[in-house]
Amino acid sequence: MCGIVGYIGDKDACEILVEGLKRLEYRGYDSAGVALLADSRIDVMKTPGKVARLEKMVSGPRPAKVGIGHTRWATHGEPNTVNAHPHTDCTGKIAIIHNGIIENHSALKTKLISLGHKFRSQTDTEVIAHLIEEFYSRTSNLEVAVRLALKDVDGTFGLVVMSASEPDILVAARRGSPLLIGLGDSENLIASDASALIRHTRDVIYLHDNEIAVISRKNVSLKNLDDEAIEREAEHLTFDLEQIEKGGFDHFMLKEINEQPETVLNAFRGRLIDDEGISKMGGLRDVEDKIANAKRFVILACGTSWHAALVGKYILEQYAKIPVEVDYASEFRYRNPVLLDGDIVWAISQSGETLDTLAALREARGKGAPVYGIVNVVGSTIARETDAGVYIHAGPEIGVASTKAFTSQLAVLNLINLLVARKRKTISLEQGREIVAEMHRLPEKIQKILDQTDQIEAIAEEFKESRNFLYLGRGVNFPVALEGALKLKEISYIHAEGYPAAEMKHGPIALIDENMPAVFIALGDSTYDKILSNIQEVRARKGNVIVIANEADGRLRELAKHIIEIPKTLDILSPILSVIPLQLLSYYMAVKRGCNVDQPRNLAKSVTVE
Ligand code: GLU
Repeated sequence: MCGIVGYIGDKDACEILVEGLKRLEYRGYDSAGVALLADSRIDVMKTPGKVARLEKMVSGPRPAKVGIGHTRWATHGEPNTVNAHPHTDCTGKIAIIHNGIIENHSALKTKLISLGHKFRSQTDTEVIAHLIEEFYSRTSNLEVAVRLALKDVDGTFGLVVMSASEPDILVAARRGSPLLIGLGDSENLIASDASALIRHTRDVIYLHDNEIAVISRKNVSLKNLDDEAIEREAEHLTFDLEQIEKGGFDHFMLKEINEQPETVLNAFRGRLIDDEGISKMGGLRDVEDKIANAKRFVILACGTSWHAALVGKYILEQYAKIPVEVDYASEFRYRNPVLLDGDIVWAISQSGETLDTLAALREARGKGAPVYGIVNVVGSTIARETDAGVYIHAGPEIGVASTKAFTSQLAVLNLINLLVARKRKTISLEQGREIVAEMHRLPEKIQKILDQTDQIEAIAEEFKESRNFLYLGRGVNFPVALEGALKLKEISYIHAEGYPAAEMKHGPIALIDENMPAVFIALGDSTYDKILSNIQEVRARKGNVIVIANEADGRLRELAKHIIEIPKTLDILSPILSVIPLQLLSYYMAVKRGCNVDQPRNLAKSVTVE
């Protein structure tokens, strides 16, 4: 998820690594470190906080001409010095940096401890260091040891390894986390992102999934994890630094919208048990029964997270049959809320630092309720102050308007629903399996929506001058209407409101005329016919409609000029899909109006004031 740089050549490795890490800072991270190899020994220096702090620690010319550096965005274990990368094996002779998540780290750790390995950190990454050590002791060959170790590993990785016993090579491997090799003159580099190496070279080789590279000063050889050699031509990079940082997209927000097939997959990763039609989440392991036996859930959140919470209410009440209250954190705190025995309070926050949510959870704790978190940033204040919780693993979100964190929050709420519903036996094994199977299909379905970006951009072009918008949805898609309206307000400064579609006739319909577009979410569920009537009511008043539908039928086509079709899925999972066209619509509206999409006026990414 975060930054990797490796260097082997004739220059001061430390200086090159630190400079490369600085280039990766824009991605967001929580700690940084380097491992330097000189005189057959490895020195590791790492620290929580900024690269500037690391730079102070390592200052001065250093003899090492080989090294690896990392900026970490924690997924397993708090951001502190011990958990920062690089990690080493028991002997300190093997060092590794890693991006991604090792799903089977607990099982591997137990096995390695039984073989006598001593662990220092709480990270999933450290298991790879010990696993490589284990295979190295049998093979005395770093490349082979890395290859064999990776055969035992489930999950994603972009990693670079070096060993004091083989000081003339770096070994890198990738599965699901980007890596590219920069080719220099008697020096080579490796990085997770081209921005870290273009100061040195623009000739690069991209590593593909399940490939391993052995990099020396003068050579690079590639193989797949089955030990078959691979030939690949180098490419010459022509784009500029800014383009590279945004992954080729014009804005971070668009990049993050496009990351959603992967981020939703990451939220589910290692947490679905297909056969048993249930989920498991490490952070809730000790409280599963307590959760299943709860009498009521109270969910506290603000902004986009509050919308996710509201989706959670629909899902949990329908499937797990548990009453759910959703509260604005700021309101909860000051209205002297009633909490009863058997209540469980959940706090949802992307940053884990949202002050209103934090204050509300402290209030709930003070009243004796167990408080659990659903958070993106590992080790954040809310993560630390809750009794248990689930990380959504969306990776750093840079765009101020939340997109990928929202869909990952929904993914996690669905995991919780699945766990509770199966434990309470309010859904059967078959239903559980059906949900799990459909969860696996979501990334592909998200991609199908992203492939329709051009159509959505064209709609934005047509409506970019509108001053007001209405968003309407029913059931589980009512909160999505709220979220669509919020996205538009946040980044394009167009006034927008979300309503349950049936509420329109109780007031908002007075606003409808030819200047007031209405966005409907009309999926092919039990409320479809009713929503068609609502669309008709808008059309009768000359209002323009944009409709998010599954498969538009003749009736809908007659009513609406603009229909965005999204794949069918289960009702409870549908918000993960239906919100995506709304994110794209607001993005393009904002761009076409010349707004600063990534840093909208008056807004901050993490709201740490009351
Ligand atoms: N899962 C690893 C950790 O928590 C890697 C994090 C990253 O990708 O930066 O240390």
